[in-house]
Amino acid sequence: MAERLISDGLNKPDKDLDVRLRPTRFRDFVGQKKASERLELFTAAAKKRGDVMEHVLLSGPPGLGKTTLAYILAEEMGVNIKSTSGPVIDKPGDLAGLLTGLERGDILFIDEIHRMQRSVEEYLYSAMEDFVIDIMIDQGANARSVRLNLQHFTLLGATTRSGLLTSPFRSRFGLSIRLDYYHAADLEHIVRRSARILDVDVDEGGAREIARRSRGTPRICNNLLRRVRDFAQVKADGKITRDIAAQALTMLDIDEDGLDEMDKRILETIMHRFSGGPVGLSSLSVSVGEEADTIEEVYEPFLIQEGFLKRTPQGRVATDLCYKRFGITPAVSADRLL
Ligand code: ADP
Repeated sequence: MAERLISDGLNKPDKDLDVRLRPTRFRDFVGQKKASERLELFTAAAKKRGDVMEHVLLSGPPGLGKTTLAYILAEEMGVNIKSTSGPVIDKPGDLAGLLTGLERGDILFIDEIHRMQRSVEEYLYSAMEDFVIDIMIDQGANARSVRLNLQHFTLLGATTRSGLLTSPFRSRFGLSIRLDYYHAADLEHIVRRSARILDVDVDEGGAREIARRSRGTPRICNNLLRRVRDFAQVKADGKITRDIAAQALTMLDIDEDGLDEMDKRILETIMHRFSGGPVGLSSLSVSVGEEADTIEEVYEPFLIQEGFLKRTPQGRVATDLCYKRFGITPAVSADRLL
């Protein structure tokens, strides 16, 4: 149980650690070449024209650097950033308060923007397009709408589920950037950079081992580095070698492919309880004891990318590769079902 708690928390934000290890300029932002080059060009052009940056939508699984990029953009543009999150803004009035406090060029960062209420979203349209908002003052017979002009600002939205945004909303962003899971070499670079900042002694083999088992995610990389460091301090002389990293990660129940306990539980459940699938998301969610949204946003994208799982119109299916990975022979070739 203790191990399960440990590995469950690996992609949960740890505010202090995130802030300490967060790169603040493009030059320190590792990997995601296409995304960062596009953003760098975009900011350089806006700066050169003396313009305010267009609205940007950042999407991708958690822990890949969306918030980091938002702060980098603010730093590079030399503007203020105000940060909030979709579920926190529960009425248009909350949004009005945020918008009227912005100066020209400032960034309003809304994390989890797909979880914003529809009424708030619609309120944002005129703010994004014409930099005005209509607010209601007074009540009853005296109620009237007053138009407020806003400073030209940049809305930066981050989402793990861009598919849930309505198309009118999506079309109001000038630039839409998708972040993908990182390559092992980039993650290795991130482990070494974080180790330097945290003053942790890690050799090449140790960094590679942590990177390889981080589900392509920088935040997991940093969290694993910290846990492996603790292990190295207690069980060895503090130095993280390949061997020490492998031992620590095995203890945390993170296997060779970087699959953690929930990943394995999802795949094993599909193979054993649902004969390989197809199985609907809600049945899967009940069987593994995890929220459907979390399965869809956090676990599935990685399992699909690694080729262990497929989404079909009938439901989720475990692939032949998945059976092979667990050394199980499927009754019917799973890939033939696809
Ligand atoms: P998201 O907003 O996508 O959930 P964050 O931007 O909060 O992810 O990133 C989580 C942590 O991972 C950051 O604090 C930072 O330390 C690290 N990180 C993310 N992307 C990178 C990167 N490209 N280079 C170095 N570190 C990164």
